[in-house]
Amino acid sequence: MFLWKLAKNILPVAERLQKNTTCVQCSQGIETVQHLLFQCSVTSEVWSVVSPENLQDATKYGDVNQWLQSWMDKRSLFSSKRQHLRNLAVITMWFLWKSRWLKLFEGKSQSPTIITQQIFQFCYAYGLCIHNSYIPCSYISNHISIKPRNDWIPPSSDWLKLNFDVSILPDTNFVGFSIVLRNHLGDCLEAVAWTRNVRDVDQAEVLAMLRVLQWLKFKGLCKVQVEGDNKSVMEAMNKNQSESIR
Ligand SMILES: [Zn+2]
Repeated sequence: MFLWKLAKNILPVAERLQKNTTCVQCSQGIETVQHLLFQCSVTSEVWSVVSPENLQDATKYGDVNQWLQSWMDKRSLFSSKRQHLRNLAVITMWFLWKSRWLKLFEGKSQSPTIITQQIFQFCYAYGLCIHNSYIPCSYISNHISIKPRNDWIPPSSDWLKLNFDVSILPDTNFVGFSIVLRNHLGDCLEAVAWTRNVRDVDQAEVLAMLRVLQWLKFKGLCKVQVEGDNKSVMEAMNKNQSESIR
């Protein structure tokens, strides 16, 4: 319904209702659709963490309806990356709209961090959007403990250490993967999480390792010690040890 109203240009923002037109979120701009969903200081902070690509794209069009229409071109319809971005855009806009509703009708303020957290939690819970996307290290470090465990053994000072883990939601094929890259002091340098559906635990563990290697190649990282908790996967990897990964 939210998306339908947005596409039909009938979202009941203050400017259209001709009541107090000041934005309830920032108390500064006039509450137009464009302001509420893209230009507001609260909103842009959320986009900057959740999906800067979408904000950049929407800003380029300058009009939300034209932006929505651009989703229908052939290039967008058949690109999984673009579909992923569109899903994330819709969910983000819906949470921004919901947050505005809470402030306006229930007087409850939500900070950009809280809204961002809700978006990530929603995506994670429903297996949406986070697949193939990046959760910035700064966001994770603010919300999730990334201190190494007491039994974590640091690498030598000229190497980095990558820990990865897999968790499957009970009674589903839905799995979450996470990667944390640290230096010898235990400082978190990068953290990534993504989700997907798998056949079983074994496939999840092997896919996680594959993704780790692809990620290391993508980042161009050398001298990285990879540590996982699945014995058979780690043993299989060690059979083909390279000089820059162990
Ligand atoms: Zn505002």
